[in-house]
Amino acid sequence: MDNKDVILIGPPGSGKGTQADLLASTCGLLHLSSGDLFRENVRNGTPLGKLAKDYMDRGEYVPDDVTVAMVVERMQRPDAARGVIFDGFPRTEKQAAALKQALAEHGRGIKRVIVFQVPDREIVTRLSARRVCPKDGATFNLLSKPPKVNNICDNDGAELVQRDDDKPETIERRLEVYHRQTAPLVSYYQAEGLVSRIDGSKRVESVLDDIRSILG
Ligand code: AMP
Repeated sequence: MDNKDVILIGPPGSGKGTQADLLASTCGLLHLSSGDLFRENVRNGTPLGKLAKDYMDRGEYVPDDVTVAMVVERMQRPDAARGVIFDGFPRTEKQAAALKQALAEHGRGIKRVIVFQVPDREIVTRLSARRVCPKDGATFNLLSKPPKVNNICDNDGAELVQRDDDKPETIERRLEVYHRQTAPLVSYYQAEGLVSRIDGSKRVESVLDDIRSILG
């Protein structure tokens, strides 16, 4: 069994996407974000995007069967063969079981599950300050990673926007859903001896160092 896949679990805004990008560019793994895949489908107006949008706008999870089908399809493309950093997937035990099976079918397994710990009050501050580029999906933060020019994407000059689900009412809902549905996944993976916890409230570079030393 080739255990090279890594899972990042943590509340929304805990830095999973940022760290997955940095890790992907240095260790050659593919960054697979289920949230990004859903947003791409919403932008392109696909049937999957239309179905997912209502759930996303409410801050709720898209049903497991739909989510699993989308992620498994992505995992089967050639660029995923070198190993994947899963960001935001799995989020339920059903998804975790489906992932285990899909990996096993390719003789693969999970190397490590990194759990990001960040207090809820900090999540609310971070997500309220998050801005995204509607064109290329790049993420900025008015507090910790501001764009070079106020409210403009560094990459393509598009005007940044706030994600609909980063509005205060929806943030509360997403945190509640995370604690109820995803936090229990940690015990699931702990039983398999795969969990390492990190302090996600530290600076981006320190968090990256911590994850690198865990992954070895
Ligand atoms: P994210 O960018 O990871 O915070 O995801 C944004 C939204 O996409 C979530 O609030 C959910 O509505 C949906 N979503 C992303 N990943 C999953 C997943 N693994 N299971 C169910 N819904 C998901």
